[in-house]
Amino acid sequence: MQSQRLMLNEDQRALIGAVRSLCKAKNFKGNSIKYLDGTYPSENLQDLAAIGVLGMSIPEEYGGSNLPVFDTALVLEEIAKNCYPTAMGVMSSLGVQTRVIATYAPEHMKQDILPKVATGEIALAVCMTETHAGTDVPNYKTNTVIRGDRAIVQGVKTLISKANEAQWFVVFTRIDGTPGRDGIGCVLVNRDSPGFEVTARYHTMGGEYLAEIQFNQVEVPVENVLLRQGGFKKLLTAFNTQRCLNPSISLGLAEAAFEEAISYVRERTIRGQHVSEFQGIRWKLADMYRDIEAGRSLLYRAALTANPFPDPHEAAIAKMFVNEMAIRVANEALQVHGGYGFTNDYPISRIYRGVRYGTLGGGATEALKDLVGKRLVESFDPVDGFLSQGTF
Ligand SMILES: Cc1cc2nc3c(=O)[nH]c(=O)nc-3n(C[C@H](O)[C@H](O)[C@H](O)COP(=O)(O)OP(=O)(O)OC[C@H]3O[C@@H](n4cnc5c(N)ncnc54)[C@H](O)[C@@H]3O)c2cc1C
Repeated sequence: MQSQRLMLNEDQRALIGAVRSLCKAKNFKGNSIKYLDGTYPSENLQDLAAIGVLGMSIPEEYGGSNLPVFDTALVLEEIAKNCYPTAMGVMSSLGVQTRVIATYAPEHMKQDILPKVATGEIALAVCMTETHAGTDVPNYKTNTVIRGDRAIVQGVKTLISKANEAQWFVVFTRIDGTPGRDGIGCVLVNRDSPGFEVTARYHTMGGEYLAEIQFNQVEVPVENVLLRQGGFKKLLTAFNTQRCLNPSISLGLAEAAFEEAISYVRERTIRGQHVSEFQGIRWKLADMYRDIEAGRSLLYRAALTANPFPDPHEAAIAKMFVNEMAIRVANEALQVHGGYGFTNDYPISRIYRGVRYGTLGGGATEALKDLVGKRLVESFDPVDGFLSQGTF
């Protein structure tokens, strides 16, 4: 879309062009139906690794290209336009788990793990959610006891992406039973550790599997404790990146939905008239396009101002808007397909399934509204008005 191009420099255009060409050459869009049954898109991920996509968040000394959040968001948007499960697979190489390891792991672990993530040899997962506490972070029960040079992890995590594929897991955990948010740090666990067990699998409407993982007295060297008590703020800072990457998948899906809608209504005829000629349909298209462009502006602003991580307020606002916008757009795009949109033969039904993820993962909309509302009540200055939020 033209407005997007206006903001891109030559390197960014080349990057998007390379990803776009690859998606087309390897027919990511056409093949995306293969992944509805939970098949992992490993071929796509290997192809993307070969052009450097999986190393975009990894520092150069560990085999990556260390691109800014904005560039990674652009790439994810492009991939999501073609294949939602592939975009989700890529996000775990660009997101919080990689950034936590790149920032807080001991040097020899960075050297061992990060180059393999960049080449797609291994994958990473992040374990935050627990059965009784998803958004309720201060009530995590998973605990790690530190005994001399060893650390022992005990707990259950659930709804975890890539549980079957990942080699290393960044586990958010209480340290030595310290209560509350301040007691949370994180530990790096290898799936081959005794006591690590995948205990349940959930097949999602988007296609991918999520899993429950038990850590039964999993013992790791103490250097695997990447952050101890008081580390939660640092984890959240890294997590803010996820709040730009998640909506970039939603944005890509909204664009794909729009493209499917406009192609369909141009072709489909009713009583000799193209569906695109009905005013009611044109108004839908205009609304969809307007909302996509509004969402793009918010998201690009949040991603462009990341330094190196996005501002929590900007990222939350962008995420809330773009996730909900994309659901509305996909819904309307399906509607203009009539009954065919409800069948799996048309890409719009897969887009509609995938787009539902956005408001749930990476910070649920309701939790983010709490965050934004709290900041506004505490710091919005009626005299300086919007300038008091430092947005402009
Ligand atoms: C496709 C997918 C992939 C995922 N991958 C991972 C992963 O890799 N790792 C991981 O750790 N987790 C993952 N998750 C889990 C996700 O992070 C959680 O589902 C999310 O944090 C919400 O937690 P919950 O499901 O326990 O919902 P709950 O916390 O039980 O929330 C239920 C409802 O209450 C709302 N709510 C919560 N607080 C408030 C409030 N203060 N005011 C009003 N409403 C509120 C929520 O927004 C939600 O609508 C994934 C989820 C999905 C769908």
